[in-house]
Amino acid sequence: MTESLAQSSPCIEAFSRALERCGLELRRDRTTTLQVNVGFLCDLACRHCHLEAGPSRTEIMTPETMEEVIAYASRCRFQAIDITGGAPELVPGIERLVTGLAPLTPRLIIRTNLSAFLNPGVAHLPELLRSAGAAIVASFPSANVGQAEAQRGHGIMERSITALKLLNDLGYGRDGSGLELDLVANPTGAFLPPSQCEAEQKLRRDLERKYGVVFSHLYTFANVPLGRFRRWLEDSGNLEGYLQRLAGNFNPATVPGLMCRALVSVAWDGHLYDCDFNLAAGRGLGGERRHVADMACLPPEGTLIPTDDYCYACTAGSGFT
Ligand code: SF4
Repeated sequence: MTESLAQSSPCIEAFSRALERCGLELRRDRTTTLQVNVGFLCDLACRHCHLEAGPSRTEIMTPETMEEVIAYASRCRFQAIDITGGAPELVPGIERLVTGLAPLTPRLIIRTNLSAFLNPGVAHLPELLRSAGAAIVASFPSANVGQAEAQRGHGIMERSITALKLLNDLGYGRDGSGLELDLVANPTGAFLPPSQCEAEQKLRRDLERKYGVVFSHLYTFANVPLGRFRRWLEDSGNLEGYLQRLAGNFNPATVPGLMCRALVSVAWDGHLYDCDFNLAAGRGLGGERRHVADMACLPPEGTLIPTDDYCYACTAGSGFT
């Protein structure tokens, strides 16, 4: 498991104190979503990655843990199941996880960095996802080649566009196909994302005009100060300023809709967390160490959710849901 890099910063008010000041607590609501993080192996090593995923990471979900996850989803039905990584495409046996989970939920989502679809041995996956009716959520930081490559590495734009075209050819992102292709963009530096609505209009225009590529929706999120992004903030002298910017934009109205209130996240080794960020920081579900195989039902409503300074990234401005 990734070692915790989170530490409440002395330069800002503790997140728990900010909640208290607004008369709020972060407690679990009814759980509707199962997130499955199949591991930290990835073909990219992006500067903003809170999990520090990359080509040299060996932590991936075993077939046994996949079966335990499928059994849990069968015991406790979820309205949505969200498979993420790393790059899920690169995890051996991912096909079994997709086909095992698809009949158990009305909404199966798989996250991709797009580039991973072009790796040898995974050419069959887009068609498999289409057959399973899975929605695809793809990271796509920018239509600007320089910005995208600064964040994700040389050649990433060409690979991303090739993968988007391939998905469009299968019907993904096309009106009326029922095959959702959403894009996720995050800033390339220590600043907050632009307005989602305007960014979506601009990206839609740019991608269609330059490459003939279409998509369903764009979501813009702030980078979370954990893992590789936190280290970059520290090394570049931006940590304090970034945390202050996030905390200064704290919006209490985002708290009722925070994803940690309705989601349970399973790590590659089967242990459970309230969200992917608490997973990265090693803070277990409700502050406890629990394994998916031992979960008889949904996590109890009302349990307090562990927080830290990175929670400001979810609650700044219009939030991260
Ligand atoms: S990082 Fe975000 S999703 Fe996770 S516990 Fe904090 S507020 Fe909730």
